[in-house]
Amino acid sequence: MELQTVSKSLDGGVLNGEEIAQLFRVPLFSRESAMIISSARHKSERASHGLAEVHAQVGLNVAPCPKNCMFCAFAAKNKVFVEPFDLPAQEVVNQARRFEEDGANAIFVMSTADYPFEKFIEMSQEIRGSLCAETILVANVGDFDRKQARRLKDCGFAGIYHAVRLGEGRDTRIPVQRRLETFRNAKEVGLSLGTCVEPVGSEHTIQELVEKTIITREANPVFSGSARRIPIPGTEMAKLGIVSEARMAHILAVVRLALSDDVGGNCTHEPSVIGAAAGANLLWAEAGSNPRDTETKTENQRGMKVQDCIRVLEEAEWKVLKGPSQFYRS
Ligand code: SF4
Repeated sequence: MELQTVSKSLDGGVLNGEEIAQLFRVPLFSRESAMIISSARHKSERASHGLAEVHAQVGLNVAPCPKNCMFCAFAAKNKVFVEPFDLPAQEVVNQARRFEEDGANAIFVMSTADYPFEKFIEMSQEIRGSLCAETILVANVGDFDRKQARRLKDCGFAGIYHAVRLGEGRDTRIPVQRRLETFRNAKEVGLSLGTCVEPVGSEHTIQELVEKTIITREANPVFSGSARRIPIPGTEMAKLGIVSEARMAHILAVVRLALSDDVGGNCTHEPSVIGAAAGANLLWAEAGSNPRDTETKTENQRGMKVQDCIRVLEEAEWKVLKGPSQFYRS
């Protein structure tokens, strides 16, 4: 049965919810799981012409965020960052340039949801002006309206990263509809969307994984994939533990099979060799603030460098694209 579903995906068929659930249910380390992983890898290679990418994110600020997403270090109620702090503009620009020199295929600019939009535009203009014209810039910000989407486009962003997260509206104070509106606002002004099934925790049901996988597919993204929740020490959600990299490899492989070949990228975070071997062809380096870290400058703790991500991809037998992201160009 699973073989038929995998073949349907490889032949270009669109898997329905029950078929996706069936693939998620397959036990790890079974023959069927190995088949899912090898097929996802094949589909990823086919969709990205055998080339993986490394994107690099620079976070502009830390702050106690009122949206209170339980999994995020910035959530006010998690009390990790009590005082707001903005990274100096020159430091952010230097970091973005370093990522570019190191060979990142796209640079992401991230802020907390309540970071002033105009300030985000100003900082982004400085970053944009300091990078080569062909370098792809991507915004990872809170929800925005159509006018703000236009400002992001005019500022030189090729796209955004945005997701309807697992537990959205339950573990966060943001309604699912608000996230979907932001998808639409981006699309309407020509900003490409990268998204993901995240942040996966051990308590999430197959039904929720299926629902969020289908949301990413219906958003027509340039990449999807799956990422696990990183426990923030001392928080309620940390008590729920962490999903293993082996399980994440299976989950991201199923997400790959649920999306069509038109979607070039399949991401995972944080980077792992087993995830990349199973079909993740997009990994992230990070610097500055990071919602999964308790350090203001994640490059001193959790954040990986571009070279680290390239090494992970090469260990998983991927060739890494040189030059601007093909995912955000597609
Ligand atoms: S994930 Fe974004 S919106 Fe949610 S608490 Fe963190 S910064 Fe705020």
